[in-house]
Amino acid sequence: MTGSPLPTRFILERYRELLPVTDRTPMVTLGEGGTPLLRSRSIEKELGLKALYFKLESMNPTGSFKDRGMVLAIAKAVEDGAKAVICASTGNTSASAAAFAVRHGLKAYVIVPDGKIAMGKLAQAIVHGADIVQMAGSFDDALNVVRELATRHPVALVNSVNPHRIEGQKTGAFEIVDELGDAPEILCIPVGNAGNISAYWRGFQEYYELEHARQLPQMWGFQAEGAAPIVNGAPVAHPETIATAIRIGNPASWDMAVDARDRSGGRIRAVTDEEILEAYRRLAAEEAVFCEPASAASVAGLIRQHREGADLSGKTAVCIITGNGLKDPDTALGVTAQIHRAEADLPSVERALGWA
Ligand SMILES: *Cc1c(COP(=O)(O)O)cnc(C)c1O
Repeated sequence: MTGSPLPTRFILERYRELLPVTDRTPMVTLGEGGTPLLRSRSIEKELGLKALYFKLESMNPTGSFKDRGMVLAIAKAVEDGAKAVICASTGNTSASAAAFAVRHGLKAYVIVPDGKIAMGKLAQAIVHGADIVQMAGSFDDALNVVRELATRHPVALVNSVNPHRIEGQKTGAFEIVDELGDAPEILCIPVGNAGNISAYWRGFQEYYELEHARQLPQMWGFQAEGAAPIVNGAPVAHPETIATAIRIGNPASWDMAVDARDRSGGRIRAVTDEEILEAYRRLAAEEAVFCEPASAASVAGLIRQHREGADLSGKTAVCIITGNGLKDPDTALGVTAQIHRAEADLPSVERALGWA
């Protein structure tokens, strides 16, 4: 027996009609998109949901959803004649930009906030050969600097203020509807610079208008309590959270996120670092999903909404698992672990296991 050909998972091909792809756009891929929608085995029942899914954006080639936007942003930059790209980054944007730049033969420049970036992400930017500047200050400061740099020097800006990033990222919503046959009632997503919640909302709306979906989801966004400008209604000068990917005090896509929240009848709320870590631990231990702390904010938020009385019965929810846990081994190693020591012999290992 021969297998039937798989439909392409290359998002620039698959959703070409709904993206700003032209005949001159270089169709270069690293295998982004087509990520699994994994059904919950434990948290779904506890919350009384009809169904809970995790969209594993952690399975993208550089380990985060940033690849969906970057594949398009860098292709469009090349189409426009760019020879170099630049971004400010809490880590994942730089990892993705550096990888796609290699594939296109471009130079990548990344500006990261000093000392506040997960080790795995910095490692990715380094091995892909990006020029890295660690800048004193926050992500927000770094973004202000690169915006200015991009106007003064011949480099294309590939942060999510680049509209092609949002366009590429909306394909995550298309995939969810294509797989479930409709939009879920609730979409849970971490909010940092607020590009992704805006992108998903756009994707769901476009599919709804095309009648590929019969309903629109409520957009439930979650910020970390120490970095919750949209929740507080004011920028945060010194954002603090263990979830470094959402450690942002003045989101670039603030207005779009508020629009997504309000038009969808949704909510943007805060979760504590303790709640994020508890969801992070449970995702790994009960669902076999190893994500980075920022990703766990979506699940922590859903759990908290349930605890505060949200009625989830009969509803389907999807949580976006935005990035891979391997990027941030320090956080994983900080979770209480029981590691037993043994000598190099069978009886010693048996004793260590408590079997003798
Ligand atoms: C970038 C990022 C976020 C935040 O997404 P925004 O579009 O900035 O709101 C969340 N989680 C991870 C893992 C990220 O890399």
